[in-house]
Amino acid sequence: MRLYTRREFNKYLTIGILMSSGLITPHFSVAEMQCRCNNPNCERKNPDMNGDMMKMLEELRLATFALPVSSGARCLDYDISISPKKNKLGGVHVQSVACDVLVGHLGSPDVLNLIDRARAIGFSGLGVALGGKFKDRKKRFLHLDARHLLPEDYGFGGSAVWSY
Ligand SMILES: [Zn+2]
Repeated sequence: MRLYTRREFNKYLTIGILMSSGLITPHFSVAEMQCRCNNPNCERKNPDMNGDMMKMLEELRLATFALPVSSGARCLDYDISISPKKNKLGGVHVQSVACDVLVGHLGSPDVLNLIDRARAIGFSGLGVALGGKFKDRKKRFLHLDARHLLPEDYGFGGSAVWSY
Protein backbone atom coordinates (compact mmCIF):
# COMPACT_ATOMS: atom_id res chain seq x y z
CA MET A 1 0.00 0.00 0.00
CA ARG A 2 1.27 3.43 -0.91
CA LEU A 3 1.69 5.91 1.89
CA TYR A 4 0.65 9.45 1.14
CA THR A 5 2.30 12.54 2.51
CA ARG A 6 0.00 14.84 4.45
CA ARG A 7 0.02 17.28 1.55
CA GLU A 8 -0.99 14.59 -0.95
CA PHE A 9 -3.61 13.30 1.43
CA ASN A 10 -5.13 16.76 1.81
CA LYS A 11 -5.09 17.24 -1.93
CA TYR A 12 -6.93 13.97 -2.57
CA LEU A 13 -9.31 14.67 0.28
CA THR A 14 -10.13 18.07 -1.25
CA ILE A 15 -10.71 16.58 -4.69
CA GLY A 16 -12.88 13.85 -3.11
CA ILE A 17 -15.05 16.37 -1.25
CA LEU A 18 -15.45 18.51 -4.35
CA MET A 19 -16.42 15.53 -6.52
CA SER A 20 -18.95 14.16 -4.06
CA SER A 21 -20.56 17.60 -3.79
CA GLY A 22 -20.92 17.88 -7.56
CA LEU A 23 -18.18 20.47 -7.88
CA ILE A 24 -15.09 20.40 -10.06
CA THR A 25 -13.62 23.48 -8.36
CA PRO A 26 -15.15 25.55 -5.53
CA HIS A 27 -16.99 27.77 -8.05
CA PHE A 28 -17.72 25.43 -10.99
CA SER A 29 -19.97 22.41 -10.91
CA VAL A 30 -20.03 19.19 -12.91
CA ALA A 31 -23.58 20.07 -14.00
CA GLU A 32 -22.67 23.39 -15.62
CA MET A 33 -19.73 21.85 -17.48
CA GLN A 34 -21.78 18.96 -18.91
CA CYS A 35 -22.49 18.72 -22.63
CA ARG A 36 -25.74 20.59 -23.40
CA CYS A 37 -26.93 18.17 -26.10
CA ASN A 38 -30.26 16.33 -25.93
CA ASN A 39 -28.77 12.83 -26.01
CA PRO A 40 -29.26 11.29 -22.53
CA ASN A 41 -26.52 8.76 -23.35
CA CYS A 42 -23.99 11.44 -24.28
CA GLU A 43 -20.66 10.37 -22.81
CA ARG A 44 -19.83 13.99 -22.05
CA LYS A 45 -22.55 14.24 -19.41
CA ASN A 46 -19.41 13.34 -17.50
CA PRO A 47 -17.60 16.49 -18.62
CA ASP A 48 -14.12 15.19 -17.74
CA MET A 49 -12.69 18.70 -17.97
CA ASN A 50 -8.99 19.33 -18.23
CA GLY A 51 -7.78 19.89 -14.65
CA ASP A 52 -5.24 22.55 -15.55
CA MET A 53 -7.85 24.52 -17.48
CA MET A 54 -10.26 24.29 -14.54
CA LYS A 55 -7.58 25.62 -12.19
CA MET A 56 -7.12 28.59 -14.52
CA LEU A 57 -10.88 29.16 -14.67
CA GLU A 58 -11.17 29.05 -10.88
CA GLU A 59 -8.28 31.50 -10.59
CA LEU A 60 -10.04 33.81 -13.05
CA ARG A 61 -13.29 33.56 -11.10
CA LEU A 62 -11.51 34.41 -7.84
CA ALA A 63 -9.82 37.42 -9.46
CA THR A 64 -12.94 38.78 -11.14
CA PHE A 65 -16.68 38.12 -11.05
CA ALA A 66 -19.37 35.45 -11.06
CA LEU A 67 -18.97 33.69 -14.40
CA PRO A 68 -22.13 31.83 -15.50
CA VAL A 69 -21.14 29.04 -17.87
CA SER A 70 -23.10 28.71 -21.12
CA SER A 71 -21.02 25.86 -22.57
CA GLY A 72 -18.27 23.63 -21.20
CA ALA A 73 -17.63 20.12 -22.48
CA ARG A 74 -19.24 19.01 -25.75
CA CYS A 75 -19.58 15.67 -27.45
CA LEU A 76 -18.43 15.64 -31.07
CA ASP A 77 -21.99 15.46 -32.45
CA TYR A 78 -23.13 18.48 -30.48
CA ASP A 79 -20.00 20.43 -31.33
CA ILE A 80 -20.53 19.74 -35.05
CA SER A 81 -24.16 20.88 -34.74
CA ILE A 82 -23.04 24.22 -33.26
CA SER A 83 -19.92 25.18 -35.14
CA PRO A 84 -18.47 24.27 -38.52
CA LYS A 85 -15.64 21.81 -38.21
CA LYS A 86 -12.06 22.80 -38.61
CA ASN A 87 -10.65 19.60 -37.19
CA LYS A 88 -11.64 15.90 -37.12
CA LEU A 89 -11.08 15.95 -33.36
CA GLY A 90 -13.83 18.52 -33.02
CA GLY A 91 -13.21 21.88 -31.40
CA VAL A 92 -11.54 22.76 -28.15
CA HIS A 93 -14.81 22.19 -26.24
CA VAL A 94 -14.62 18.54 -27.29
CA GLN A 95 -11.06 18.48 -25.96
CA SER A 96 -12.24 19.75 -22.53
CA VAL A 97 -10.05 22.84 -22.50
CA ALA A 98 -12.72 25.44 -23.29
CA CYS A 99 -15.52 27.27 -21.58
CA ASP A 100 -18.00 29.95 -22.69
CA VAL A 101 -18.94 32.40 -19.95
CA LEU A 102 -21.83 34.85 -20.07
CA VAL A 103 -20.85 38.49 -19.58
CA GLY A 104 -24.17 40.25 -20.16
CA HIS A 105 -24.21 41.29 -16.49
CA LEU A 106 -20.90 43.14 -16.89
CA GLY A 107 -20.20 46.60 -18.24
CA SER A 108 -17.32 47.37 -20.61
CA PRO A 109 -14.68 48.11 -17.93
CA ASP A 110 -15.42 44.77 -16.27
CA VAL A 111 -15.37 42.85 -19.55
CA LEU A 112 -12.00 44.40 -20.40
CA ASN A 113 -10.72 43.57 -16.94
CA LEU A 114 -11.91 39.98 -17.40
CA ILE A 115 -10.07 39.71 -20.72
CA ASP A 116 -6.89 41.18 -19.19
CA ARG A 117 -7.03 38.72 -16.30
CA ALA A 118 -7.74 35.78 -18.60
CA ARG A 119 -4.69 36.66 -20.68
CA ALA A 120 -2.52 37.13 -17.57
CA ILE A 121 -3.59 33.72 -16.23
CA GLY A 122 -2.63 32.15 -19.53
CA PHE A 123 -5.80 31.47 -21.51
CA SER A 124 -4.59 31.08 -25.08
CA GLY A 125 -7.85 31.12 -27.03
CA LEU A 126 -10.33 34.00 -26.87
CA GLY A 127 -13.58 34.38 -28.76
CA VAL A 128 -15.74 37.43 -28.17
CA ALA A 129 -19.48 37.69 -28.71
CA LEU A 130 -20.22 41.25 -27.66
CA GLY A 131 -22.47 42.44 -30.43
CA GLY A 132 -26.23 42.70 -30.51
CA LYS A 133 -28.70 45.24 -29.35
CA PHE A 134 -29.03 46.25 -25.74
CA LYS A 135 -31.93 43.80 -25.22
CA ASP A 136 -29.63 40.97 -26.31
CA ARG A 137 -26.95 41.79 -23.77
CA LYS A 138 -27.74 38.69 -21.77
CA LYS A 139 -26.47 36.61 -24.65
CA ARG A 140 -23.07 38.27 -24.65
CA PHE A 141 -20.29 35.84 -23.87
CA LEU A 142 -16.59 35.19 -23.96
CA HIS A 143 -15.14 31.92 -25.15
CA LEU A 144 -12.01 31.10 -23.17
CA ASP A 145 -9.74 28.15 -23.86
CA ALA A 146 -6.38 26.73 -22.95
CA ARG A 147 -5.48 25.16 -26.31
CA HIS A 148 -1.79 25.49 -25.50
CA LEU A 149 -2.30 22.54 -23.12
CA LEU A 150 -3.19 20.22 -26.02
CA PRO A 151 -0.58 18.16 -27.88
CA GLU A 152 0.84 20.02 -30.88
CA ASP A 153 -0.22 17.30 -33.32
CA TYR A 154 -3.91 17.89 -32.47
CA GLY A 155 -3.58 20.88 -34.77
CA PHE A 156 -5.27 23.60 -32.69
CA GLY A 157 -2.21 25.84 -32.65
CA GLY A 158 -0.84 27.63 -29.61
CA SER A 159 -3.30 30.51 -29.66
CA ALA A 160 -6.42 31.84 -31.36
CA VAL A 161 -8.58 34.94 -31.23
CA TRP A 162 -11.83 35.69 -33.06
CA SER A 163 -15.22 37.33 -32.86
CA TYR A 164 -18.58 35.67 -33.47
ZN1 LIG B 1 -23.44 15.56 -25.93
